[in-house]
Amino acid sequence: MDLIPSFSVDHTKIIPGIFTSRVDDVNGSKITTYDIRVTKPNVEPAVDVAAMHSLEHIIATYLRNDPEWKDEVIYWGPMGCLTGFYLILKGSRAPKEIFDLLYRAFDSVKNSEEVPGSTAENCGNCLMHNLPIAKWHAAKFAAYLKENENNDLIFEYPKTERLVTDDGRQFFDS
Ligand SMILES: [Zn+2]
Repeated sequence: MDLIPSFSVDHTKIIPGIFTSRVDDVNGSKITTYDIRVTKPNVEPAVDVAAMHSLEHIIATYLRNDPEWKDEVIYWGPMGCLTGFYLILKGSRAPKEIFDLLYRAFDSVKNSEEVPGSTAENCGNCLMHNLPIAKWHAAKFAAYLKENENNDLIFEYPKTERLVTDDGRQFFDS
């Protein structure tokens, strides 16, 4: 593994959008971690934890079944701060190249009649789901993406130097 960035995102400047968080080289193949930021940190309310869980299920299912992209997807999961998701894809595409995929994924949530896999057999906390609020956040983010499709700021990560802890370790949030 190399190409580990020495910067981290400035959470006071980031706006909702689709960003490259890091690119790793694994045995000669690039993989890219994207920051799919759904709310503005520390300004807007974060996503309700149960709705976040439902969006994890619905959008992971969408991405991993998409005929064009399913073989590229390594990981989809929520950030602990509940303001966005991490998406890991094979390759090193610019964020703009995955705009359409993410727009379609979030826009599709409105059609969900249930949360896939929200049973005790398939989920570790099957009572912690909230489909109506998941739909509300997904619709808000999809509309935002559409409105900002030509706004380069939704694709540019505002960077700051990586924090070093009091005992001298580099801080990471993922
Ligand atoms: Zn679950």
